[in-house]
Parts: sequence; C-alpha cells; structure tokens
Amino acid sequence: MLSGSFLTVALRSLVEGLSEGPIRFRTLGALYLLAAPLTWISLVVPHHARHGTVPIAVLGALCVVFAIVLIAMRDRLPGRALPAMLAAGAVLVSLGIVFSRDATSPYAFFYVWVAVEAFFFLGGRAALPLVGFIGVCYAAPLLAVPSAGGDAVVRWLFTVGACLVSSVLAGVLQARAQMLLEEASEAARTDALTGLLNRRGFEETITLELARTTRSGGALSVIIADLDHFKALNDRFGHQIGDVALQRLAVLCREGKRVVDSAARIGGEEFALVLPYTDANGAYLVAERLRRLIHDGASDETMLSASFGIAAYPEHGTDEDSLLRAADQALYVAKQLGRDRSVIFSHEVAATVHRGLDVPLLAREQTTAVLVLAETLDLRDAGTGAHSQTVGRYSEMIARELGLPAERIERIRLAGLLHDIGKLGVPDEILRKPGRLTAAEFTEIRKHPELGARILAGANLDDISAWVLAHHERPDGAGYPFGLSAEQIPLEARILAVADAFEAMTADRVYRAGMSHDAAVEELRRCCASQFDETVVHAFLRPLGSPVRSAFDAAF
Ligand code: GH3
Ligand code: MG
Ligand code: MG
Repeated sequence: MLSGSFLTVALRSLVEGLSEGPIRFRTLGALYLLAAPLTWISLVVPHHARHGTVPIAVLGALCVVFAIVLIAMRDRLPGRALPAMLAAGAVLVSLGIVFSRDATSPYAFFYVWVAVEAFFFLGGRAALPLVGFIGVCYAAPLLAVPSAGGDAVVRWLFTVGACLVSSVLAGVLQARAQMLLEEASEAARTDALTGLLNRRGFEETITLELARTTRSGGALSVIIADLDHFKALNDRFGHQIGDVALQRLAVLCREGKRVVDSAARIGGEEFALVLPYTDANGAYLVAERLRRLIHDGASDETMLSASFGIAAYPEHGTDEDSLLRAADQALYVAKQLGRDRSVIFSHEVAATVHRGLDVPLLAREQTTAVLVLAETLDLRDAGTGAHSQTVGRYSEMIARELGLPAERIERIRLAGLLHDIGKLGVPDEILRKPGRLTAAEFTEIRKHPELGARILAGANLDDISAWVLAHHERPDGAGYPFGLSAEQIPLEARILAVADAFEAMTADRVYRAGMSHDAAVEELRRCCASQFDETVVHAFLRPLGSPVRSAFDAAF
C-alpha cells in the first residue's frame, strides 16, 4: 500500500541520482574504460606520427586501472575524488600528446570528454576551474612539442573554446532536465483539485516523517478527516458544488495546520494530516479546531461537517500501515457515534470496530430530545454561543487524559453538553444581566444544578443527572447545592467543574470580555485543591507542559 508508484520512484532516483556520488563515479569509470581501447586503436591504425607507442599503451592501461577503481569503489570514494579524477584525465591527455610528439594529435579531443563530464556532474561553478586547468594542461604540450609551430595559439583557442561551449551546453541541458523531472515528480505527488498532496505524496511524507521521528524519538500523529454525508450533498447540489466544498476544506486544512504539518487529500472526500512533534492530545485539539472551522463555515443549507480519526506514534502504531489503520478505525467510531466529532484511537475503539457499537449512544430518543434542549439553551443565551458544546469537548479531553474507558468518556462528553440544562428554568433577565447580580438573583441561578438533575433523571439519564447535580460543588466544601467536599463529589462532576470554569473564563460574555488563555490557566492553577480538583486540573493542563504546546495554543 505504501510502496509509492514506480514512476515517482524512478523519476526521483534519476533526479537525485544525478547528484549522487556512486552514479557519478560509475559514469566517469565508464568513460575511462571507453578511452583505453580508443587509445590502443590509435596506436595500430595508420597514423603519420609513430612515437611513444609503449608509454601511450601504458597510459591506456592506466585508464583501465582508473576505471576499475572508480567503478569498484564508487560507494566509498569521497566527493572530492571526482574533480581529482577529472583533473587526472586532463593530465593523461597531455601526457599522451607529449609522448606522441605531435602537437596536432587527436588525443586533444579527450579534453572535451573531461570538460563535459565536469559540467554535467559538478555544475558550472565547480567545473569552470577544471576547464581552466584543461587550458593549462593543453598549453604545456603545445609549448613542449616543437611541431605546434605558429598554429599553437589557434589550436589552443579552438580546443579550449570547444571544451567550454560543449560543456556549457551539457550543463544547461542537465539543469533543464533536472527541473523538468522535479516538476513531473511534484505533479505526481499533488492532487489536482485541491493542490494538497495526493495519496502518493502523503505516503512518501509519512514514511519520511516517521523515519525522522523514529530517529529523534519524539511523537507524531496522523489525523484522517472524512466529510459527513457528502454523497447527499453531491446528490442535492451537484458535483460542482461538491468540488467547491472539497476545495474549501483543503484551504481550511492548509490554514489550520502548522508549517511543519503536511495536509493531503487521500481519497474522494477523505483528507489526512501528518503532525510531527505532536501527541494524540495535541492532534485532537488540531482536529477539533478544523472540525469547528468546517462547522462554522458551512451554510444552513449545506450543513457541511466532518468526522476525524486520530492515531499517534508510537502508542497506536509504529509503522505507516498500522498508524493509518488505527486512525481509520477511530474515524469509523466517530461516524458511529453520530459524526461531526473527533475520536482518538484506543483499544476500546478497536474493540468497537470488531464487535460493533452495542448501543448507539446518541440514538436514544430521550437523549436526543434533551440534547435539543441543551442546544436551545445555548441559542437562547446568545452570549455564551456554543458554551455547552465546548464544555462537552473539554470534559471529554480531560476524561481521556485520565485514562477512563471509551464509553465513560462518551457519557462525560454528553454530561458536558447537558450540564447547564437547568438554566432553562432561570429567567432571561437574570441569565443575561449585564451588571452584578443581587443576592436573590444569585439564589435563583444557584438552583440550576438541581433543576438540571431533575430534567435529566426524568429522561432516564440518571448517571449524568448525578454529575450535573454536583458540578458546582468544590473540593474545599464551599460549593453548592450541598457543600460536599473532595471525594464526596463524583469524579465526573469534578471534571465538569474544570471544563465549565475554563470555558466561562475564556469566552466573551455580554457583560465582559474573556480572559486570555494564559490568565485562565493561571487561575485554574491558583484555585487548585480549593475550587478545583488537583488531578483534574493537571489532566487538563498536561498537554500544555508537553511539546504540543503550539498545537494546544493553535487549537484554542
Ligand atoms: P459518511 O458520512 O458516512 O462519510 O457518508 P458519505 O456520503 O460522505 O460517504 P460515502 O463514502 O458514502 O460517499 C462519498 C461520496 O463522496 C461519494 C461521491 O459522491 C463523493 N465524492 C468522492 N470524490 C469526489 C470528488 O472528487 N468530487 C465530488 N464532488 N464528490 C466526490
Ligand atoms: Mg468516505
Ligand atoms: Mg464521507
């Protein structure tokens, strides 16, 4: 699955191969091997100069030795051996001319071989000094061999000029070919509709990033996103509108990721992100941010949303295949749980995939009815926007960080969505009052946990009812309605309290602007153990202390 296409591999190896040592040494070795028989043939075919047969034959033999060394040791030779061996070639040519005692010797054509090879494999800047060296090498026999006579200067100019022109042409052609190959290779990795990486590009990227992560020992996460009910959108509005939605999602992926992350379209309406240096929680926050952006950007008509599956290296998989499979399974569970959500892979996820979800949690009619009420509450209290939704997500995150089982996490998320349902019974003028509340108004507000608990118990959500009842209790006993303390308060209620407080502190209200995240974090720390449960606060803040801080910041 991750083998990549033959074409891309071939193109890349060619592009990279041209600048790789072993291939360059092998090519130069082949040229030396070709030069040897040519030299020997020159000694036996009729030729007006008949000097230096033995030393020239030895030079041919030397070419064979050079060829064998270059080819046999191509993997071990250092990079600087290449210009040295090219320079040696120029010296051999000069020696050939000197031994032949013929300034018009055709051996001078070998200089062109050296120059072209230099430009092709070293590039213009490094090859130019070699052409200068060839000029010096050729000047020596022209001066030493008397037969050159008055032609010497013209001969030198034409030979060195031919070297220069043919090698510059070779260099230009090589650079152009390399550019075209790079473009072709890039096109083979890019999705034409969205401009993101395609599946092949994604596979190459994840292989590369995983290798890097394995070496450095850090974290890495993969997110797979799939648009919800996309077929229905296509059927209703046509494929063109569908394509626009895909392009919009691509823009969100590109903008929502950090520079080090890679985004890809790996299937029809399936996208993937590779997040280096990011653990599962960091990736969850990035996924949630994207999910919200998609949700908020959708019109009432299209109601576009997406589900996300998250898997992290090394805990959910140690190679590409297992990581992608884990993220896929988490995505499947996200779809099963009602879509428009992010799920991190866990063993419960794997079990759910194998045995199927026992009870579709959100399918219970009563639960659905209560959720509609919660949404109504959020809408009514315009100032709080998606308060319940956010508290639900934060609660889920804390529960996961505390290592609770998947079904309990889902219940806690639901409790987060429903925790303020009792506010349905609090009058508008108190709920949305811009100024300070009077004592009587406070008493009114403080009734909402009990009211909520009653509504939920009536809807057969007894567990959640108990947690909602206690979500304003405090470990120091100063909370309400009963003044319970520490362990008397259910863990779930202590989780709700932290999620609720952080959301309340950071969100803008009609009567005040939200605090900065740093200030809210500071406040949570300050009130640890008195107002908030210490373990829960630490579970909430843990992602901040890890290298995923930037992802966390980006997500809020
Ligand atoms: P689910 O929420 O379960 O993911 O439902 P779905 O309808 O999104 O999923 P399904 O896999 O049944 O359908 C995927 C659809 O994506 C089918 C096809 O119409 C659409 N699709 C795939 N590729 C493209 C594309 O390039 N352009 C457009 N416009 N639609 C595409
Ligand atoms: Mg799909
Ligand atoms: Mg889909």
